Amino acid sequence: MLRAAHRCVPNLQNICSATASGPGKTLRFVGKYCLHLKKVKGHLTLNSSRCLCSRSSVRKCWSCGSSAQLFFCSSCNSIQPPSDTATYFEILNCDQTFALDTRKLQGKYIELQRCLHPDNFGQKSQTEQKYSEEQSALVNKAYRTLQKPLTRSVYLLQLRGVELEEGTDSTADPSLLVKIMEVNEKLAETQSLDEVNAVDREVQVTLKNLTEQMNASLNKGDLRTAREILTRMKYFANLEEKVKEKLRENL
Ligand SMILES: [Zn+2]
Repeated sequence: MLRAAHRCVPNLQNICSATASGPGKTLRFVGKYCLHLKKVKGHLTLNSSRCLCSRSSVRKCWSCGSSAQLFFCSSCNSIQPPSDTATYFEILNCDQTFALDTRKLQGKYIELQRCLHPDNFGQKSQTEQKYSEEQSALVNKAYRTLQKPLTRSVYLLQLRGVELEEGTDSTADPSLLVKIMEVNEKLAETQSLDEVNAVDREVQVTLKNLTEQMNASLNKGDLRTAREILTRMKYFANLEEKVKEKLRENL
C-alpha cells in the first residue's frame, strides 16, 4: 500500500504543470502544488480577481512536519487532510478560467482519484483512511462542479463574489419565461420523437451560444452580463434535462 502512494507522487508531479499570467509576466510552474510558492514571491492573479498563490499551499505534513503538497507530503508521502482554502481549480490543477478543456480536466480527475481512492489506504492508519475518503470526496465535488458549464459558471461567479439566489430569478426577462413555458408545454404534450429531437437541437444550439457568451463576459470581467447569461443557462439546462427524460420515455 505504501508503494501505491509512492507511485502516485511522480504522477501528481507530472500533472502539476501549469502556466499562469500575472501582471506583466507569465510564469510556468512545474509541480505547482509544492514548488510554486518557493519560486514565486508575492501574489499572482488571474483576471485581477483571485490570488493563485493560496496560502493553503504552505502546509506542514501532519505526520512528519515537512512541507506538504495539497494531497501528499513531499517528504514522507503521507496523504494530507483536504485543504479548506484551495479552489476547485487548484484542486484539479487547472487555470481558473471558464474555457476549460474538459477532456484534460477528466484526465486529471481520473489520475487524482487513482491516487486518492480509499481502496489504496485499506492497510493504512485510520487517520490516513479518513483523509483519503475526504480528499476523494473533495476531488469528486470539484470535478462535478467544473465539468459542466452551468455549475462552472455559478462557481466562477461565486469566486468573484457574486451570490446567486435559489429558485426563480426575479430578474429573468419575461419573454424568456414565456419561451421556456412554451417549450415545456410542447414537450409535455408531444408524442412525436421528431418533435422532441427538434427541441433537443434547439436547446443544444442555445446552450452552446450561451456558453460562448458566458466565456466572453467572464473574460471581460463583465459579471453583470455573466449573471444574466447564467439565468438563461439555468432555464435551458433544465429544458435539456426534460428533453432527456422525454427521450428516455420514448425508448
Ligand atoms: Zn510527511
